Amino acid sequence: MIYFDNSATTFVSDSVRAKLQELTEDAVSANPGALHKLGNRAIEVYEGIRRETAQLLGAKPEEIFFTSCATESANTAIKGYMSRNKRAGNAVISTRTEHKATLECLEYLAKLGYEIRYLKVGMDGKPTAESLEEELGKGDVALACFTLVNNETGSVLPFENISKTIRAVSPSTAIYLDCVQALGKMPIDLSKLGADMCSFSGHKIHSIKGNGVLYVKKGVRIDPLILGGGQQDGMRSGTQSPVLAGAFLAALKEVTTGIDESRGKVKEINDYLRKELSDRGARILSPDDALPYVLNVSFEGFESETMLHCLEIYDIYVSTVSACSAKQKKVSYVLLEMGVDRKTAANAVRLSFSRHNTMEEAHEFIKCVDQIYEQFLVR
Ligand code: PLP
Repeated sequence: MIYFDNSATTFVSDSVRAKLQELTEDAVSANPGALHKLGNRAIEVYEGIRRETAQLLGAKPEEIFFTSCATESANTAIKGYMSRNKRAGNAVISTRTEHKATLECLEYLAKLGYEIRYLKVGMDGKPTAESLEEELGKGDVALACFTLVNNETGSVLPFENISKTIRAVSPSTAIYLDCVQALGKMPIDLSKLGADMCSFSGHKIHSIKGNGVLYVKKGVRIDPLILGGGQQDGMRSGTQSPVLAGAFLAALKEVTTGIDESRGKVKEINDYLRKELSDRGARILSPDDALPYVLNVSFEGFESETMLHCLEIYDIYVSTVSACSAKQKKVSYVLLEMGVDRKTAANAVRLSFSRHNTMEEAHEFIKCVDQIYEQFLVR
């Protein structure tokens, strides 16, 4: 099997499996809110996990909240910020290339009467500097929402420049940053990054599904999305799960080790596939300077889904548009927004790699593409 669908989700690593075993033992399974000593043990373990997670992300423990997924983190950050800071402004800036977790929150805000200003993006998937200055210059911007690495193309946001512009033109604007596809693939130090709120997802970094992280910078006030017993400082009620938080931490430890080495290895795979696929007439849609973990390719003569199923015959797994919307059979809104024509976008397939993929798999992939061309391409 060749699994090139790591942006959709990753396989669970051995260290996560071991952690799950350890943290489901009776001795640490009491309710972390319980007053007895078993409860004390569980909350101690949980808070230890929170401290270590914060440290690895360059945050303070009280800035880290465990959630069920990045979608929950995004909803909490975006809706929670606008709900709590009503006098900060009536506008939000973002792009139409965001993940649905962000876009649907923005739609929700629009229905409440907020003005959503979408910046123009170039062929490289990055918002243009002119568009950013223009929309910020109109004033009243409470929040800016962006994604550090695009899930469909690997396009990397020039976040340093963007945050500098925002701080210079509109210092009161808060920044939410989706870091889901960046985590473990580029160094992230939240103390220096310049974002006020960030989201992360466990299942994209070889943890199990069901765990995410929300970072909220100290001093930034947001309303909680989930109300209840007031756990996690009231930010996210619901009985804390040392198991899920521990799984996230185990995965985080692994992917934040040897980032440069893994990236070099993945770049070799990406470079090879870019060249070989281009030589065969496929069109590379990921920008040249994209993070090498994602390679968006359009295969002329094959609709996205057809190519996906052809590859599946060879036990190779890729995706069309992002997995959560793949079943709706839509052409990628991200590619269309970047200016890719509809026909090219309709033939696009996303290959996404993890640190565990190999050059042997890349060679095998190309061999199978050749066979698919030979068998199925009508010239
Ligand atoms: N943001 C990006 C960029 C993603 O790729 C994804 C998942 O596809 C999400 C957010 C949502 O993550 P989760 O599945 O943890 O809700």
